[in-house]
Amino acid sequence: MKMKHTMLGLALAGSVAALTAIPASAMGPTAADLINDTKTPGDVTTYGMGYGQQRFSKLNQINRTNVKKMVPVWNLSLDSNQPQSQQPLLIDGIMYLPTVNATLAVDALTGKQLWRTPLELPEDVYNAVCCGNHNRGVAAYEGVIYRTVIDASIIALDMKTGKQLWKTVVEDYKQGYSLTVAPVVANGVLITGISGGEYGIRGFIDGHDLKTGKRLWRKFTTAAPGEPGGDTWPGDTYKRGGGSTWLTGSYDPELDLVYWGTGNGGPWNPAFRGGAAMDNKYIASVLAIRPKTGELVWHYQFSPNDAYDYDGVNENVIADMKVDGKMRKTIIHADRNGFFYVIDRTNGQLLAANKFVNRVDWAKGIDIKTGRPIDSEMTERHRKTLVMEKADEVWPSALGGKNWNPISYNPETNTAFVPTLNFGMSYRLVEQEWKRGQFYIGMDFTGFSYDSKQPRGYLKAIDPVTAKEKWSVPLPIPYFAGVMSTKGGLVFTGSLTGEFIAFDDQTGKKLWQFQTGSGIVSMPITWEKNGKQYVTVASGTGGVYPLYSGDERLKNVPTGSSLWTFALAD
Ligand code: CA
Ligand code: CA
Repeated sequence: MKMKHTMLGLALAGSVAALTAIPASAMGPTAADLINDTKTPGDVTTYGMGYGQQRFSKLNQINRTNVKKMVPVWNLSLDSNQPQSQQPLLIDGIMYLPTVNATLAVDALTGKQLWRTPLELPEDVYNAVCCGNHNRGVAAYEGVIYRTVIDASIIALDMKTGKQLWKTVVEDYKQGYSLTVAPVVANGVLITGISGGEYGIRGFIDGHDLKTGKRLWRKFTTAAPGEPGGDTWPGDTYKRGGGSTWLTGSYDPELDLVYWGTGNGGPWNPAFRGGAAMDNKYIASVLAIRPKTGELVWHYQFSPNDAYDYDGVNENVIADMKVDGKMRKTIIHADRNGFFYVIDRTNGQLLAANKFVNRVDWAKGIDIKTGRPIDSEMTERHRKTLVMEKADEVWPSALGGKNWNPISYNPETNTAFVPTLNFGMSYRLVEQEWKRGQFYIGMDFTGFSYDSKQPRGYLKAIDPVTAKEKWSVPLPIPYFAGVMSTKGGLVFTGSLTGEFIAFDDQTGKKLWQFQTGSGIVSMPITWEKNGKQYVTVASGTGGVYPLYSGDERLKNVPTGSSLWTFALAD
């Protein structure tokens, strides 16, 4: 016993300062506050506006009849020309949010900055970042704010002061790893993913100790020989096989399962990873894992042997609904691959999978019995081909039928509001060797294919089980912002040209808009204080579409980001 104490004393000696700085107790949010987030619409304590990531608020003071009277209350510069793709949290009248160069606490009623803690970053850290520099949000738990940093580290900050409590380096950014994901605290564990799927990484999901940042477990998302699924990778291809985990998992506290999506295979060439004979577990999948241990309870693979950069990372929204006349506990998921999935979240059984975009070339459909896609002839050919002479056109493109920006789900009307994309890509496989910090995709990417007669995207309201449209708004320039819906009958999202917009949730009619000064690629929230409802959104353009689309209409959209809060005029 005595010996043990001495050893513990020694082990802690180096980090005593850090440990004593942890707030002693009882500041929120507590575990119950996180679990009950959707029941307490005044505050937003979780990424996704609830562990289930429905992005639906029960607030209805601002509604379809009065939204035209919504006006800005304050604006705060975020002191950055980088994209703002985060979702703020709102706890006890204080807003917490990350940017790519600092972490902030803001008085939510006045917009006054309460603290701002800058990040210290090495200059070469941006070399292995495919699609701009991002951070999606913070997690809050018992007086501490947790966030990821682009240099593949995680930091914890005192909620009151912004003082850094600890930092954990997850992986070496020089090897192509980075971190942009909002962490989640589930069952007392801090869970994070990893980015770098275009740089030949091997993906994983990590669980960390909340007090020290020490890693408790790691679940790799590509299977090594001898592990379950290890026989779905030829040779040592799993080592650079991708499966990044760059968007936050949802959590069902009753089942105690976290649902986390995994990214594309690396390189993109499917034949390099064994072709049709090899599924490459567990890329382009959703993994149901135990937050305490990282144990994989079930998985469902959206795109086995993924060939087209169809990251399966998109949000897995928790929803209970009738399927074939029977109430089911489900997750719903709009995949990059163009299909909308309804999956039993207790066991991973596929309940429905339907096309939610105009055109899908890679598969003829999803076999509901086996849960597997039915390859098109083109895909069959691609799975056998390492190097292509001539390019094919493939729809959806590598950006998907829907990109990372999350859907909203109204549980009262069983409707999903989905920002969709409507374009293809030129696809020609080439040979590629892995080089540290360089693209490792094995594809000659020459650009996207647009249909000049069709819009490049739609905002759609759909029935999750059939993927049938209730309404659809054509978008000449597609949206890359998160969607939020409210009991007030409103659907909020933002455009790349800067308009923050409210639509009627029953008809898709545009009811209100406001020009925020830069493009919107973030996730709005709504909250309430002293009986008044507010809506907050960050403005600041960037990301994959402005970078790679060649869309001339976005050429003059200003950078320069800020945070806006709106309410009804008094
Ligand atoms: Ca809440
Ligand atoms: Ca990718």
